[in-house]
Amino acid sequence: MLQHEPAIRLGVFLGVLLTLLALERLLPWGHARTLGLRRWPGNIGLAFVGSLLVRAVAPAAAVGAAVWAEGRGLGLFPALGLPGWVAIPLSVVLLDLLIYWQHRLTHAVPLLWRLHRVHHADPELDATSALRFHPVEILLSMGLKMAVVVALGAPPLGVLAFEVLLNATAMFNHAAIGLPPRLERVLRLGLVTPEMHRTHHSEVQAETDSCYGFCLPWWDRLFGSYRAAPAAGEAVVIGVLGWRVPALQRLDRLLLQPLLAAPPLSAASTTASALAPRRSEA
Ligand SMILES: [Zn+2]
Repeated sequence: MLQHEPAIRLGVFLGVLLTLLALERLLPWGHARTLGLRRWPGNIGLAFVGSLLVRAVAPAAAVGAAVWAEGRGLGLFPALGLPGWVAIPLSVVLLDLLIYWQHRLTHAVPLLWRLHRVHHADPELDATSALRFHPVEILLSMGLKMAVVVALGAPPLGVLAFEVLLNATAMFNHAAIGLPPRLERVLRLGLVTPEMHRTHHSEVQAETDSCYGFCLPWWDRLFGSYRAAPAAGEAVVIGVLGWRVPALQRLDRLLLQPLLAAPPLSAASTTASALAPRRSEA
């Protein structure tokens, strides 16, 4: 299966993305999205630059680290003699727990928040928001994941399964779809739903600092960061105050955004309407 890794990743990515883009039209979430497609070049461009950077710095990536550790019998799982049918699903769950805490850290440490703010500054949500991470955040995340994969001795198949699953679930929970409420209530027992993740993208700080999960919803409940819904409900304002301006969604501005502590004054003074919360449009 590892021989077909690139085809599996690309196939699942494109299949899930196209399905979600269709669902966004069939079951749209009722929130105005005035920038819409104009955010796509920036969001997709960031993913492209991020994957180039990882290829340049750590081409083996997390699956390569797992293959390397497996060849040397390194890590906790081989030391415990865990069989594959335990180690593979356990790797998926533990790597998801790692991403939960890594995500909390990016909100708590000011320098990391500058990198992660690029993701939150998306003024609207759709499946492409899941691609919008600063390349340096992608690289740091990959470094941490590779270290943990080696420490656990996680099987390569478990790492591949986790990465494909996280990619698919992140696109799902950023998608601008409004699920039927009964289906959503059942789904959120085992999966982070778009309704849950919108709370995390609220402009209200206390709501941004909640609902950190990307795949499994249990960590937020276990570690006290779960919020059922944003206080404003469907009228939740998405994004980060000051960073919603269309000109700031360009790829070059997104790449440089972490260097700035606050939004550029020129953007703030000339586009007051673009900065205003869009509750009235909801
Ligand atoms: Zn976040």
